[in-house]
Amino acid sequence: MVELIRSGEVPSQLEAPLPLESVRLMAPIPRPRRNIFCVGKNYHDHALEFARSGFDSSVVNGQAIPEHPIIFSKVPECVVGPGDDVRYPEGASQQLDYEAELAVVIGKGGRGISRQAAYDHVWGYTLFNDVTARDLQSTHRQWLIGKSLDTFGPMGPFVVTADEIDPEDLTLSCWVNGELRQQASTRDLIFTIPAIIEAISAGITLYPGDIIATGTPAGVGIGFEPPRFLQRGDVVTIEAAAIGRLSNAIS
Ligand code: MG
Repeated sequence: MVELIRSGEVPSQLEAPLPLESVRLMAPIPRPRRNIFCVGKNYHDHALEFARSGFDSSVVNGQAIPEHPIIFSKVPECVVGPGDDVRYPEGASQQLDYEAELAVVIGKGGRGISRQAAYDHVWGYTLFNDVTARDLQSTHRQWLIGKSLDTFGPMGPFVVTADEIDPEDLTLSCWVNGELRQQASTRDLIFTIPAIIEAISAGITLYPGDIIATGTPAGVGIGFEPPRFLQRGDVVTIEAAAIGRLSNAIS
């Protein structure tokens, strides 16, 4: 997939279609070439629920809404595909949570990309579940460990090219065992996709196939009182029009 993105070819011209039932889908980019960039606290309502929850170690002077994008990353090896299990990290965490997110796939690389030029560097979009161990996220303060456990990066079911969706008005939904937990539009992003690309690329070169998960709306498990953490057997399903449904069980 990364080779295809780099080549600039049009995917629909490459292969004859196969019936979906005859294949097993993998994540669109099963092993990203480097860490996945992620944005923390990028929807107002989620930033507030996170601050209220007591799990947020990133609050500065009691200010829940960040002034600049909070960027962290997940290791590439945590990625799994649609239908794959998220494995309960026995002995490492007891506070698993879900985060439905729109993920940007970078096409043309670059450094110092301006907001105005940012969409020229977007190849497409996919869905991402930024699975999080809240206890580890809180204990270690830096989020990499709590975000990067094995299988904590469900991605897919498809990657669509940039022309397929309006990334500034896309409704994201997330269900746990069929119960709607998250539903919001990307209109509510605190930092827009161009703003995020500008911030990351200011000093870090972006490459074709890089993935940026843009943050999750309100309705995660720690937004409830008491928190509703994921348990074995739970199924998390994320959906957005034109991208599809990403469903993963906890095992
Ligand atoms: Mg997230």
